[in-house]
Amino acid sequence: MLESIIRGRIVKIESKDYYVLCEKNHVYRCSLRGKFKNVLRHKKDKLLTLDIASIGDWVDFNKISTEVGVIEEIEERKNYLSRKALKARGSLKRGERLEQIIASNIDNLFIVTSVKLPNFNNRFLDRVIVSAESSKINVNIVINKIDLDERNIYKEWEQLYTDIGYNVFIISAVNGKGLDKVKDSLKNKVNIFWGQSGVGKSTILNSMFPNLEFDVGEISEFSQKGMHTTVTGEMREVEKNTFIIDTPGIRGIDPYGIKEEDLGHYFIEFIPYLYDCKFNTCTHTHEPGCAVVNAVEDCKISIERYESYLSLLETIEDDMIY
Ligand code: GDP
Ligand code: ZN
Repeated sequence: MLESIIRGRIVKIESKDYYVLCEKNHVYRCSLRGKFKNVLRHKKDKLLTLDIASIGDWVDFNKISTEVGVIEEIEERKNYLSRKALKARGSLKRGERLEQIIASNIDNLFIVTSVKLPNFNNRFLDRVIVSAESSKINVNIVINKIDLDERNIYKEWEQLYTDIGYNVFIISAVNGKGLDKVKDSLKNKVNIFWGQSGVGKSTILNSMFPNLEFDVGEISEFSQKGMHTTVTGEMREVEKNTFIIDTPGIRGIDPYGIKEEDLGHYFIEFIPYLYDCKFNTCTHTHEPGCAVVNAVEDCKISIERYESYLSLLETIEDDMIY
């Protein structure tokens, strides 16, 4: 049999069909070679990854016809965004949670927030930042709806996150303010937008790319309960070599697999202090000689960020099993 191996990138997953965009700009509908399923089944580790291949993965596939192929190899991921999967009906032991990969090989994550309707939620923002930092994904923050911000609430948040070192975009999707800067930063990259319902993700994407009809918030995750494989998204080429990953079914994002002692590393402004704590197992809560707590007291670390740290610390390990 004549084999023809082609390299491409998974842009959509529907049940067991993997749509692979190859470099010649053609999409093949591929299945996964059986060996991949065995890999998953045999994994002894409790921290299972739910998905063998995800959107954004580079793969080698064997072309069967002009439309169809079989995936033979999945390349190692540069990074991936994941979360705790929803509990699957029946199949899991009590308390056990799987990791669900949302997308791989991401250059830019845009965390979208709004100043009003809904109010700016820095706890949510910090949770997503932690997920991204733990996956080595470049974080950008978008503060939307500033047309509603009569008292310029956004300025304080802009300052806080800019000081830490993040790119912050101040925009209004309805009047277009600031959108050109967001659009410029997407070029030649794989980008993903994330945010709570109602912050304006679809409005932003549709204003930047009017012909593409994004409807980021359409599918309710609730209706997808227990059917992990169907909650995916799509990677779309919005301009030549510029991609946006659209994740319609996915709302919440809980950092996955983060250990208590590592959490401080994902609050990047804590990092310079971490090694000055008296105890190397310091959780930066009650321990004497904690350099992080001292930095908070000296206003070198913002109290808001420290409180986010504490609230995450309380919740991250709840679902972990070792
Ligand atoms: P999504 O759930 O994040 O996709 O949010 P949508 O794009 O559906 O927007 C939710 C609501 O916010 C819609 O009624 C939008 O018209 C509105 N909206 C989006 N961006 C802005 C903005 O910049 N200013 C104002 N005032 N409203 C906005
Ligand atoms: Zn400490």
